[in-house]
Amino acid sequence: TQNALKKQLLEAVPDTFTKILKHEMYGYAQVTVLAILTHLDTTYGTVHADDLEDNWDRMHAAWSPTQPIEDLYNQIKDAQKFARDHDASTDKMAVRAAIKNLTKSGVFMDAIKDWRKKTIVEQESFETLQTHFTSADKERRRILTTKEVGYANKAVETPITKSYMTKGSPDGVPMYYCWSHGLGPNSKHTSNTCTKKLPGHKNEATSDQMFGGCCVIRRRAGEKPVYRKPQRQSRENEENQQPNGQT
Ligand SMILES: [Zn+2]
Repeated sequence: TQNALKKQLLEAVPDTFTKILKHEMYGYAQVTVLAILTHLDTTYGTVHADDLEDNWDRMHAAWSPTQPIEDLYNQIKDAQKFARDHDASTDKMAVRAAIKNLTKSGVFMDAIKDWRKKTIVEQESFETLQTHFTSADKERRRILTTKEVGYANKAVETPITKSYMTKGSPDGVPMYYCWSHGLGPNSKHTSNTCTKKLPGHKNEATSDQMFGGCCVIRRRAGEKPVYRKPQRQSRENEENQQPNGQT
């Protein structure tokens, strides 16, 4: 019955949350269950700011080019649904989150450019976005697979040459790193694109993360070497001078 239900409800909820409805004399006698529920929902039913923040984080969790692109759509859709239930989200927000994430992934520069050329209306539709980037992703994966065929080593999906690039000199001349051959000015020679990989080669090695790779800086083609490695004389002398040194 109403009363039994009301009793249970009032027992379950601390008095502080409902006492505004309580009559001085009649208590909750004249208050309906619906009134209590409505009051609770409008006053306390709103999501906590932290929940929204967590939801925002989930929506914006970095997508990796090795994941299926559907993962990205789903994380955004879930977050969007959550936010929509609490009246805080639109398709526009979902599109923004996706574009932001895809930009960070670095593998959709052209597709993002094309996206920007679409009409405003199109650019506000998350569904249109999914169609657009799903086909861009298919093409990206097709190209990756074609490339991999030529590799002697198991190719690692490393999407952009940029990650191999390093500002190698004070003038900011870009340099590129290869695990087998070291740092050099040729943008077409990186760990991933190297054509003469040595045993143990790591496709994902960069100057930042060398994975124990070659630490040589290569000269530009045609540059004559002048530098000679100094002989390690001083160190040998030191060793000889040690009082109980063995020779
Ligand atoms: Zn190389």
